[in-house]
Amino acid sequence: MPVLRMENASKRYKTDKKQVQYAVQDLSLTVEQGEFVFLIGSSGAGKSTMLKLMGGEIAPDEGAVYIDETNIARLFGPWKVRLTRTFGIVSQQSMLIRKRTIMENLLVAGRASGMGRKSQAAAEKALGLVGLPGVGDCFPAQLSIGEVRRVELARALINSPSILLLDELTANLDDDTIWDIIHLLYELNNRGTTIIMATHASQYVNIMRRRVVTLVDGRLIGDVKNGKYGDIV
Ligand code: ADP
Ligand code: MG
Repeated sequence: MPVLRMENASKRYKTDKKQVQYAVQDLSLTVEQGEFVFLIGSSGAGKSTMLKLMGGEIAPDEGAVYIDETNIARLFGPWKVRLTRTFGIVSQQSMLIRKRTIMENLLVAGRASGMGRKSQAAAEKALGLVGLPGVGDCFPAQLSIGEVRRVELARALINSPSILLLDELTANLDDDTIWDIIHLLYELNNRGTTIIMATHASQYVNIMRRRVVTLVDGRLIGDVKNGKYGDIV
């Protein structure tokens, strides 16, 4: 059961004027298996960058990210595929292919993580888990925003990941839908899945009272167990 560890990880980008700017700087954090972590910070604080570093989508310019004792930037080939099975990822931008049905989208994701013929059954199970067993033949545009976000969660769940990385999964959703999603995440977490989610849904953060990690201008300024939105100590 993997432990995720960031050690002094930084990511920088060149701006238009060719200056170097840090998106995140010197992040150190350990997340044990089974934790539920809310990642808080205003727009531009570095939440998405931090999640991409954690999932190995981008590599840090300084520092490192480890799964147990493995530096994930060093993985390649079959080891990299195994890494993709550790994570279920929902990005801030939709990952669904618009011209493919929901089932086809999930099958693509299943095959990408090496599931082969098990993909169909896993996809059906994942859609059932998010409460949308009947949408397999729909196209993304035929679903509401809330349904699309739940399908994206199903896509992330297809390979039974140990760690879920969720980027603003609850943005622009009505309260009932947010509540359903939070409830599902709570259940998954109870069964041992690590959950790390960037969110602005302060009232749910306050109800859940889980670990709250806060970013300001790319730096980690708060890390509170059983915290509330806005807690930094
Ligand atoms: P958040 O998710 O908290 O809104 P981001 O991680 O998306 O923050 O962005 C953090 C900072 O890094 C912002 O200033 C953003 O403009 C910058 N940034 C993020 N990704 C890129 C990129 N691909 N190229 C240039 N700058 C980026
Ligand atoms: Mg973001």
